[in-house]
Amino acid sequence: MRYPLVTHDPPLFQAPAESPPPSAHAPHVTVLSPSVRDLTFEGRDGVPVRVRGQLLAFGTSERDEHSHTTEFATRSERCSACRWFEVNIALVEAEIATDDCTCASSPNGDHEASCGLEPPSGRYLVVTAGRTVVPEEMNFRRAEFTDSPLEVVELLRVESARDRVAREAAGRSESEATRTLPPISARALAQAAAYDDDLRSAYLAYSAARS
Ligand SMILES: [Zn+2]
Ligand SMILES: [Zn+2]
Repeated sequence: MRYPLVTHDPPLFQAPAESPPPSAHAPHVTVLSPSVRDLTFEGRDGVPVRVRGQLLAFGTSERDEHSHTTEFATRSERCSACRWFEVNIALVEAEIATDDCTCASSPNGDHEASCGLEPPSGRYLVVTAGRTVVPEEMNFRRAEFTDSPLEVVELLRVESARDRVAREAAGRSESEATRTLPPISARALAQAAAYDDDLRSAYLAYSAARS
């Protein structure tokens, strides 16, 4: 990835530990919950959002291969190496604001364990980004806290470009927009559902209502 959206301390993407040989006494697959870490996301206008919690899901539509021979896709060309969508869903224990840190400086600059910890603005943090490498185009980022698993789903529903064109052609206002879950967001929700029962219920309810 060219510009990591999320950084981790300690690093999240470590080589997987050597897994123990499967035991005859433990035939069931256990889904291990992501560990609690300090996570930094880029929010609106690139302002960092720092939390301590579990990264339940990450998804991206980014592709390595460009679909065109020019350096960048034109306005109407679709290329997921030029423009893509990213989503992160975190279960939050605390927000971190070390701006007013009063820790005595340790030799390696570490903060004390509870430094800057504040009650979270919500149990879940949903970070979405529309990314682009095309010059003159803007990255759009959003970071929203919510306590509601249903709202997590709502935050991920968007109006597709095709639906928007059709709605505008019909002269209907934005409040009448049809919003759906993009495939990347649906996959991220499905990932998160493996670790969080409330998100699982919300995602299943959404899927059932649409089928
Ligand atoms: Zn491209
Ligand atoms: Zn500190």
